[in-house]
Amino acid sequence: MSKEWNFDTICVQGGYNPKSGDPRVAPLYQSTTYKYDTPEDLAGLFALTKEGHLYTRISNPTVAVLEDKYTQLEKGVGAVATASGQAAILLAVLNICEEGDHILSSATIYGGTFNLFNVTLKRYGIDVTFVDPEADEEEILKAAKPNTKFLFGETIGNPGLNILDFDKFSRIAKKLDIPFIVDNTVASPYLCNPFDFGVDIVVHSTSKYSDGHATALGGIVVDGGTFNWDNGKFKGLVEPDESYHGVKYVETFGNAAYITKLRVQMLRDLGASPSPFNAYLTNLGLETLHLRMERHSYNALELARYLDKNPNVSWVNYPFLEGNKYYGRAHKYLKTGASGLLTFGIKGGVEAATKFSKGLELVALAVHLGDARTSLLHPASTTHSQLSEEEQIKSGVAPDLIRVSVGIEKVEDLIRDFEKGFNKLK
Ligand SMILES: *Cc1c(COP(=O)(O)O)cnc(C)c1O
Repeated sequence: MSKEWNFDTICVQGGYNPKSGDPRVAPLYQSTTYKYDTPEDLAGLFALTKEGHLYTRISNPTVAVLEDKYTQLEKGVGAVATASGQAAILLAVLNICEEGDHILSSATIYGGTFNLFNVTLKRYGIDVTFVDPEADEEEILKAAKPNTKFLFGETIGNPGLNILDFDKFSRIAKKLDIPFIVDNTVASPYLCNPFDFGVDIVVHSTSKYSDGHATALGGIVVDGGTFNWDNGKFKGLVEPDESYHGVKYVETFGNAAYITKLRVQMLRDLGASPSPFNAYLTNLGLETLHLRMERHSYNALELARYLDKNPNVSWVNYPFLEGNKYYGRAHKYLKTGASGLLTFGIKGGVEAATKFSKGLELVALAVHLGDARTSLLHPASTTHSQLSEEEQIKSGVAPDLIRVSVGIEKVEDLIRDFEKGFNKLK
């Protein structure tokens, strides 16, 4: 594997290195179990002194291709794939938090993550404080507590489409001496590598742009290898793990301590592992990530410009649209585009939104985002309906907001379909 490969080449060929006569395409190893020649081989795996596969709950060769490729795409030291994006975030948290700990998080995050932090983890004694990501440094620092274990945000907030101020957040995390964890799902590693901007751990829902075809649920945690866990706050990574022959993760695995613990302890005990078939599909999807992200971004900007001029539209939010609040920051942190998500407000609110969506033929109503087909959603009545109106607004969801996941069709056809929708308002 060449270290000099460009991103696009890693998308196509990273993670799999076939030898002469091997299958050209990374094979699907649909097996829970592995075979050993000697008891010593197996004992070595259990003691973590040998590398290899023990049981698919912990690792699998097809899943390993995905993990290796992702490690290269995000320029990390290791990755663990999980059953879903939610599982990735949960394991990333539980790997360093226990009862009595505290999370400091941006408020403008995915509804599922908001609920996980705000309701479910609280039941297990892990508390959270949400902060406005645009608040100044001092104000966010004030929200930290002695038991705060990490700082959390999203590269592109879903669905607020606010661009995270990486410089400010990473300064805050460094001052607090805690890791900075970022959900990079909406940008994908093609548009942003958070490790370049002071982030320590990256999580993704691979169900979105990585798979790209809405076929496979999945998530991944990538370790940048940058955080010093031996600072007195993360005993689970420093002190002996009695469930693993007293292994000390930092001492034994160095800068891969976090990701090793996440695999051998979190996946082993909590079992939120991906199916090899889903990893296989995600690997296929990733082969075109670089091409798809270009077209998603191009189409979304064209559609945003069209909507911006449309008399039925009261506002348009797309980070690369000229005049957008986050235009400058988006060009600082995102490489060649701002991904496929855009939002707009329709004049006439909920009623108009309903009429409009009934007029669409090509663009479908779907909760999903990030696949090849264009889809549309009204978050206030669906994905964010569990939140109070105040919480909705705090997490970037206005009542008239329509979210579009712009696909990779021909943009002229999408615009023609939107015309049909708007014609229903006459
Ligand atoms: C979808 C999504 C998740 C959750 O991922 P699943 O794969 O659906 O579990 C987390 N974060 C963001 C930003 C998402 O869009």
